[in-house]
Amino acid sequence: MRLNNVTVRYGELTAVDAVDLTLADGEILALLGPSGCGKSTLLRAVAGLVPLDEGDIEIDGRSLAGVPVHKRQIGLVFQDGQLFEHRTVAGNIAYGLAGRPRAEVAGLVDELLNLVGLAGYGDRPTSTLSGGQAQRVALARSLAPSPAVLLLDEPLSALDRALREHLSTELRQILKRAGVTSLYVTHDHDEAFAVADRVALMNEGQIVRVATPHELLAHPGEGWAGEFLDADPIVPATVIDSGASSRLTIDTEVTVPERLAAGEQVELRVRLLKERADERPSDAHERL
Ligand code: ADP
Repeated sequence: MRLNNVTVRYGELTAVDAVDLTLADGEILALLGPSGCGKSTLLRAVAGLVPLDEGDIEIDGRSLAGVPVHKRQIGLVFQDGQLFEHRTVAGNIAYGLAGRPRAEVAGLVDELLNLVGLAGYGDRPTSTLSGGQAQRVALARSLAPSPAVLLLDEPLSALDRALREHLSTELRQILKRAGVTSLYVTHDHDEAFAVADRVALMNEGQIVRVATPHELLAHPGEGWAGEFLDADPIVPATVIDSGASSRLTIDTEVTVPERLAAGEQVELRVRLLKERADERPSDAHERL
């Protein structure tokens, strides 16, 4: 998918300002920025829910100009999955498959339930699902018609932090297995880094920087981007004992952007900064 000079105005306000972005097939791109920077507006513009004032969006080389929402082959997942309460889990997932033979639909629904880790949940009423399960069903439903592009708008924001951390990693695996090109809107750094292949930093309607999570963490940059990322200090360490888990020694001074009293005891959170081995999209999407 290609966005060329995409611009959206609300009266005097330019909410999305001349955005250029290219997503490779099967790539997950996170749109990360503070509240009000224009992320949702950009996503809605791709979906066709708000008109462009300037620019163009192409999927597979074809312009979306004049293509109505339902013909864009775009899947949407929102913060609140908005499941149909009167349908079962399977009924929700099958929603976008109307008109296909029953056996084909049943097979697809089972495949999608497997993909999102809810095998056997088909007959459950949606009211019995936890928040995390409901979002997985919403994801399966949006993947069912094999969208060309999946748009996710803060899909984990309604969940608590622990669940969010767990699900963001799982969500990445699901999207990679499905092989679907995904634009993922979030204001949460950790979520963006866990989910995305590349992260586009957005501020005041503009894309400030596009880089891999590793590049952004290792080199947060100057000015607004560096401050927004509020990056943890980077410390060198040596592996002294290697196994299923490894022991390291850290021996260094660090600088943190806080005023602390000399002699004060503090804690630092340490995480491993390592480039993620890219998972290859499987052929699952072809079959869906
Ligand atoms: P984000 O998703 O990053 O929080 P939004 O795209 O929702 O940002 O909003 C970008 C800017 O556009 C904000 O200043 C917001 O107040 C404004 N805005 C969003 N929707 C509308 C609308 N329907 N009418 C007028 N202004 C809007």
